[in-house]
Amino acid sequence: MKTINIAIDGPSGAGKSSIARTVAEELGFIHVDTGAMYRAVGLYAIRHDCLEPAQLIPQLEDITIELKFIGGAQRVMLCGEDVSDHIRTPEVSMAASRVSAIPEVREHLLDLQKRIAAENNILMDGRDIGSVILPHADLKIFLTASDEERASRRYLELREKPGCPSYEEVLADIRQRDDNDMHRATAPLRQAEDAVLVDTTNMGFHEVVAHITAMIREIMD
Ligand code: C5P
Repeated sequence: MKTINIAIDGPSGAGKSSIARTVAEELGFIHVDTGAMYRAVGLYAIRHDCLEPAQLIPQLEDITIELKFIGGAQRVMLCGEDVSDHIRTPEVSMAASRVSAIPEVREHLLDLQKRIAAENNILMDGRDIGSVILPHADLKIFLTASDEERASRRYLELREKPGCPSYEEVLADIRQRDDNDMHRATAPLRQAEDAVLVDTTNMGFHEVVAHITAMIREIMD
């Protein structure tokens, strides 16, 4: 059976995951957050003190990443441990951004991403989904917003947590990750030629969800 594959790419903090999760729920699709896989590798690299490519690459065969979907929600397993609650810190974000520039790390995660897409109706979000992982996706969306807007949304999320960084730190972190993601040699962040641009700077969450859900329903008819 042919599955429906929707690619959602865009910079950090554009709301890809929360939007994709909500749209997926509405349509009965699976939401695949590929950033969580890079975060899990980043967490491994922090724990084993191997952030440098020369140290990390030889260990890749020991790094097993799996996704589980419990009640539609994605959990990410690192070597059998559910690390979903440990990968959302600023330290892991930065480690994910660093390790994701290593071609061997991307290669390591590629099969899993392609296999899930071949087997399920999915909304998959990341940086290179439309350009590299699912070049034949049924619909490609490039979701973005100004960097100040993305930082202020991320800051509001983090503000509740202990040890929260300042708004300025969050903004600097987002700009640094954008820069890493856009300028790396392998699978840099870019809008695929056939992707639809959705700029959410002046849009509310529900407005974006409704807009994207409508676009997907249109291609399903
Ligand atoms: O999307 P999220 O912010 O959770 O991703 C964490 C990091 O993983 C990003 O900053 C990016 O460097 C990397 N990433 C990637 N390719 C993807 C998804 C995420 O390089 N498809």
